Amino acid sequence: MLPNIKNSWTSLVAAGVAIGVIISATVGHQAQAQDNVSIGRTPVAIVDGQYPASYFPNTELLGADEMRITALGTGMPNQTRAAVSISYLVELGNGDKFLFDLGSGSLGNLFSLRPDFSKLDKVFASHLHVDHVGDFMAMHVASWLSGRYTPIHVYGPTGSTPELGTRAFVESMRKGYAWDLATRSGALPDLGAQIDVHEFNYKQENEIVYQENGVTIRSWPAIHSLDGSVSYGLEWDGLKYVFGGDTYPNKWYIEYAKDADVASHEAFLPPKALAEYFGWDLGQATYVSTRIHTEPQAFGKVMSAVKPRLAVGYHSVQSPENNAAIMDGVRKTYDGPLALARDLMVINVTKDTIKVRMATVDEYVLPPDVSEAYKKAPRTDEKQPGKFTLSGKWQGYTPPPMPKK
Ligand SMILES: [Zn+2]
Ligand SMILES: [Zn+2]
Repeated sequence: MLPNIKNSWTSLVAAGVAIGVIISATVGHQAQAQDNVSIGRTPVAIVDGQYPASYFPNTELLGADEMRITALGTGMPNQTRAAVSISYLVELGNGDKFLFDLGSGSLGNLFSLRPDFSKLDKVFASHLHVDHVGDFMAMHVASWLSGRYTPIHVYGPTGSTPELGTRAFVESMRKGYAWDLATRSGALPDLGAQIDVHEFNYKQENEIVYQENGVTIRSWPAIHSLDGSVSYGLEWDGLKYVFGGDTYPNKWYIEYAKDADVASHEAFLPPKALAEYFGWDLGQATYVSTRIHTEPQAFGKVMSAVKPRLAVGYHSVQSPENNAAIMDGVRKTYDGPLALARDLMVINVTKDTIKVRMATVDEYVLPPDVSEAYKKAPRTDEKQPGKFTLSGKWQGYTPPPMPKK
């Protein structure tokens, strides 16, 4: 018999941060190996829902019917060491991996998980604010350097005009980084250079934007600043994760997030905390917090309507007092299972269990070993500067001979 999940909810308040934790009594799930990379330890299966207190990357096999959601960034455009800009990684028991947003600063947290980059080739953008897509080009290049030798796929909405859409954004980034990309193209495996953009109409209401390998991702509109912010629902194997784009509380989220196991949605700083943080007057802060974004009490109302197995709030400046203010607001309108996300918070989801904990990562993480894959991947040329630049080589230095091929 399953425990009553609502009753088993507990709230931990540690360092000013509350995390809702739900653990069921018995879960047996078949584990399977998915990743090509390892850090020298053999990953083990989790038996009966007995997760270690911390998540140590690459030490746990994900169950065949299990989903792991990692918050890579939960903060604001104004980053801190505690919270970089928004990004979520979703890993599935079938081996698939998806990134939702790649806000500025989030790439370091992704690397700290030492993932298998050959499988990290799908990025879904909720909207084109820098705190949601700022690390996109950094990811393209860094993953290409780290074993992604196939095209990267970017999914994102149109805007009200073509130049405000995801395709134009990616094309402009490609142009802006022409020098960087020209240095690497050919020197790195060819296919990794390719960026495939899948732009879809922001007005789609719960329509499919991705469907492969048993995974369906749908999109619906959000209301934020301009046309062209969206939310996503990922469904796989009877589980559903919802990633909410920045928004004023909207009817589409209430309707389409309804059967989510984990529903994430912004829980923005309340007006007073926002005013203090930015030094704004209360009018400006109230406008941003309650007209452009979703303040904590509104987030609570949304989650009271959606009733997910776990509600996840994010998008704030992490500090003990701000987190307390957010929790205060949410709890005025919502008493269900809740986690206020922090960077590197990990959520394991099965049909029976939702486990919330933090990842423990190394400060000096090495990139994955990609030497074998690199040897096999086609490369077409080598790069060097032109005659003029080369004529400036200092004759006082002779480099060591190149190793024989
Ligand atoms: Zn935004
Ligand atoms: Zn944002």
